[in-house]
Amino acid sequence: MKKAVFLDRDGVINEVLTDRVKFVNKPHELYFLPGVPEAVKKLNAFFDYIFVVTNQGGVGLGFMKESQLQKIHDHMIAELNKEGAIIHEAVYCPHKPKAGCSCRKPNSKLIVDLGKKYDIDLSQSYMVGDTDTDIIAGKKAGTKGVFLGKSDPIADAVFPDLLSAVDWIIEDATKM
Ligand SMILES: [Mg+2]
Ligand SMILES: [Zn+2]
Repeated sequence: MKKAVFLDRDGVINEVLTDRVKFVNKPHELYFLPGVPEAVKKLNAFFDYIFVVTNQGGVGLGFMKESQLQKIHDHMIAELNKEGAIIHEAVYCPHKPKAGCSCRKPNSKLIVDLGKKYDIDLSQSYMVGDTDTDIIAGKKAGTKGVFLGKSDPIADAVFPDLLSAVDWIIEDATKM
């Protein structure tokens, strides 16, 4: 079976709620956080797959069309690719935050479905996010959880950003 790292998008890969961008509704509003291409490249060297798993309630709320979200993800994947960093697939929940769907994190459907599609051993895989809903979704799916921020009660590790987390993730995965 394969190993994967599931990355939340906003606040992990790109800026959100900063001075220059509120929410990302267009490709040019996607500003990569420092060290992200290098971090993904390092993860590529150890893991079979790197995925992006993101809640995009702005689609359901009408702020952005689904085709626009797809353009943002195509742009994100292409820009990272230029730096030699590979994202194998970006999946999203497009529903309204209160729709009660099974794909919006903290529910785990997006992760579980990718796991089945790519034959992934989720117990040897990691979910990285900057909110507790990311970590909960990962735990429900059976992954380990890495929180980016100050602290999280159920995460296996906490780091300030993705680049500083990757060495721990790779070392931890080597032990399993
Ligand atoms: Mg986030
Ligand atoms: Zn959903």
